[in-house]
Amino acid sequence: MKKITSVCPYCGAGCKLKLVVENNKIIRAEAAEGVTNQNQLCLKGYYGWDFLNDTRLLTPRLTRPLIRYQKGDKFTPVSWDEAIRYTAQRLLEIRDSEGPRAIMTTGSSRGTGNETNYVMQKFARAVLNTNNVDCCARVCHGPSVAGLQETLGNGAMSNSISDIENSKCLLIFGYNCADSHPIVARRVIKARQNGAKIIVCDPRRIETARIADQHLQLNNGCNMALVNAFGYVLIDEQLYDKEYVHKHTQGLDAYWQTVKDYSPEAVEHLTGVPASQVRQAMRTFAAAPSATVMWGMGVTQFGQAVDVVRGLSSLALLTGNLGRPHVGVGPVRGQNNVQGACDMGVLPNLFPGYQDVTDAAVREKFARAWGIDASRMDDKVGTRITEVPHLALEGKIKAYYIMGEDPLQTEADLGLVRDGFAALDFVVVQDIFMTKTAEMADVILPATSWGEHGGVFTCADRGFQRFDKAIEPTGDVKRDWEIISLLASEMGYPMHYENNQQIWDEMRELCPLFYGVTYEKMGDMGHIQWPCPDLDHPGTPYLYENSRFDTPDGKGKLFAAPWRAPAEVPDEAYPLVLCTVREVGHYSCRSMTGNCAALQALADEPGYVQISMQDAQKAGIRHRELVWVSSRRGKVISRADVSERINRGAVYMTYQWWIGACNELTQDNLDPISKTPETKYCAVKVERIVDQ
Ligand code: SF4
Repeated sequence: MKKITSVCPYCGAGCKLKLVVENNKIIRAEAAEGVTNQNQLCLKGYYGWDFLNDTRLLTPRLTRPLIRYQKGDKFTPVSWDEAIRYTAQRLLEIRDSEGPRAIMTTGSSRGTGNETNYVMQKFARAVLNTNNVDCCARVCHGPSVAGLQETLGNGAMSNSISDIENSKCLLIFGYNCADSHPIVARRVIKARQNGAKIIVCDPRRIETARIADQHLQLNNGCNMALVNAFGYVLIDEQLYDKEYVHKHTQGLDAYWQTVKDYSPEAVEHLTGVPASQVRQAMRTFAAAPSATVMWGMGVTQFGQAVDVVRGLSSLALLTGNLGRPHVGVGPVRGQNNVQGACDMGVLPNLFPGYQDVTDAAVREKFARAWGIDASRMDDKVGTRITEVPHLALEGKIKAYYIMGEDPLQTEADLGLVRDGFAALDFVVVQDIFMTKTAEMADVILPATSWGEHGGVFTCADRGFQRFDKAIEPTGDVKRDWEIISLLASEMGYPMHYENNQQIWDEMRELCPLFYGVTYEKMGDMGHIQWPCPDLDHPGTPYLYENSRFDTPDGKGKLFAAPWRAPAEVPDEAYPLVLCTVREVGHYSCRSMTGNCAALQALADEPGYVQISMQDAQKAGIRHRELVWVSSRRGKVISRADVSERINRGAVYMTYQWWIGACNELTQDNLDPISKTPETKYCAVKVERIVDQ
């Protein structure tokens, strides 16, 4: 029996754990003394590994390369040589006939690790010659990256998960940490025990609201109006830190010109929050000796998400809550390595280390290191994954190489996504399970899973952590970066890596932000937060020391925008708002947690629709009854979860259920800047099945 150090492959909390292995089988997981989790795990950390043992699989593990030579044919098992030869040939044909931008690629924010993401973006840029590379940050915290980059200069959490408990006030906006990041939720409870004031802004009575000093139960779709009202109170009541604002920020006059129309009294009818509560919340927030603003996808999955992120960071700027311990802004990243995927440049506008693809000097640097002529580098921002269905239907994207993503389950408006996929000439899926996306592929390249390889993840607070291989893989599978390297070499760009560390060191040499994060420094239990610019640097627990921001003039930018209504509001035919949410027992598209026996037993049926008692009563719906949920785009069966915690006029569903994913119903109104879809808001109706 041996114990292998790893990092949980689910949420961005970055919990360290030990996988206990016997006879090449994992027999249990034990909590380890990681910096963010300190010997604690949630149920996914304890029980989310047994898909590796093939115990009770819902979906088959991919164990050998498969090709569908003609659309409509069945898959044919093939050798790796044939899979690589065929895929390389098809990609070359499309690149050379349609141009590099006709091919889209993805990195993966899950178990594959930073090294593979670095290799994937290198493949896109150096071999395909396109910036068409993206990841699922696009459908979650893309707006946080875009918004914070503009106002503060870095798109990441400014503080540390371990420091949340030391803050004296937590403003938690659109973030249900008990379900999304249970170990972060423990930090919130500790903060409460340490005397922090907790202010929760959420339409539902979520768990955190139960321990909060104030729960502002705003109407769905009104985030910008409430954030503007917060800014209004801070200035109107002279609660803001004038000296700090004068010294460290810019844009106060323009900010006031917008928020002056958003007094809490003026927008009470819109937000649904009594003006006195809004004023009280900001008095508490401004009076706290230290305050932290945290948010989740209740902020980012809207058509006006980037504006709200900029508005939330402005609240921290107005009160001087940046650039020192116990304060900051915390967009708590969802997946275990979504921060890492962004760090490694699987973004259409940025090379690894947040270096701009439109900067000629940066392109020259990467081209030189990669041994190609800089003129072959794409000098324009590439395509985002949410644009792919539209561009495929327009004939502008012909091929899609997808690694460790399941867009046919997780993206908004699945009917549209399916139509887009049907219009593609060539789809390559590199994954561990036969996902819904894999079922539509032309080529399937089976990869090793978390547990079967090692590497480095970045958790939500910018902390790099190593994880080790625990077991030998079964089946004819290869490491993700090995598959990409074989393809690159077959396409005429020799790419040979011997191990993870070789890739990591190549990446470090090109990224000043990460240069000092060596394998040795991370060691077994290390957690090194970027920036870490040199070998002696210990890492950075909080950004913007002394409130020197990473903006062109070093100042934080105050920002407000008028509120915009969501794209599709309820009406007589579809009278309820649908909002997508998370569920504690399963993760993302459920391909991993749905294949774990213990998690299946604990939460076998995440396909519920949460509905208020009043709306259920009106429709004659009983608790646990099967119902139809329909929108203008589709219709799915779900089980009613009638609850007093749910606000009237809205219903909530997870997208983790294979039968009738709620993304059949959602719509793809995209934020104009981040191109993130508005999966938190569309109009639906809920009906008893027996009435049909
Ligand atoms: Fe920690 Fe998140 Fe894994 Fe739970 S799912 S053990 S909170 S990393």
